[in-house]
Amino acid sequence: MSSTFGKPRTWAAVSDRGPTECNVVLLGVRGSGKSALTVKFLTKRFISEYDPTMEDTYSSEETVDQQPVLLKVMDTADQEGPVNCERYLTWANAFLVVYSIDDRRSFEGCQQYLEVVTAHTKSLQLETPIIVLGNKVDMERYRQVSKSDGVTLASRYGGLFFEVSACRDFVSVQQVFHEAVREVRRV
Ligand code: GDP
Ligand code: MG
Repeated sequence: MSSTFGKPRTWAAVSDRGPTECNVVLLGVRGSGKSALTVKFLTKRFISEYDPTMEDTYSSEETVDQQPVLLKVMDTADQEGPVNCERYLTWANAFLVVYSIDDRRSFEGCQQYLEVVTAHTKSLQLETPIIVLGNKVDMERYRQVSKSDGVTLASRYGGLFFEVSACRDFVSVQQVFHEAVREVRRV
C-alpha cells in the first residue's frame, strides 16, 4: 500500500512507533475550568474570563518521552450537559473529564460524561483512555469533593485520576496532557 501511494519510508517508521497525532477532548460541566486548562496548557497563562459558549479545537506540537506528537485539544462548551456528543465521541483518542473540587455539582455532572463516553467506547469495543481531572486545587479551603471520591470515580470507569489547578504551575497541567498521549500510545 505505502509504495503505491509513494509514502516515504520515514513516514512508516515514525508511525510504527505510535500515533503521530493525538486528539484529546475536554468534557465537563460549564465552569469546571476546561477553557482555563486548555489556555494554560497552550500558553502557560491563566485566563480568568473566557467566553463560556466558546468551543474550539487547538493544536500544539509536543514532545512526549522524546517522541514528537501533534496534540489536538478540543475544548468543548456544552450548555446543558452532554448533547450532540457525536462530534467529539468519534474524534477523540482520549477523554479528559473535568470537574471542580470546590463544586459538588460539577462532580455529579462529570459522571454523566463518563457514562456517555463509556457507553460509546463499549459499544464499539474501543479502549479510548479516560482521565478524570479534579481542577481548582488552589480552592482547597472550599473543597467539596474529596480526593478519594475522585480516585473512586476514575477507577469505576477505568480511568486515571489527577488533581490540578489551571491558575497554578504550568508543569502539572502539561503533565496531564502528556499523560493522555502516553495512554493513547499504550492502547
Ligand atoms: P469552562 O466552562 O469549563 O470552560 O470553565 P472556564 O475555564 O471558563 O472557567 C470557569 C471559571 O472558573 C472562570 O471564572 C475561571 O477563571 C475559573 N477557573 C478555572 N480554572 C480555575 C482554577 O484552577 N482555579 C480557580 N480558582 N479558578 C479557576
Ligand atoms: Mg469553556
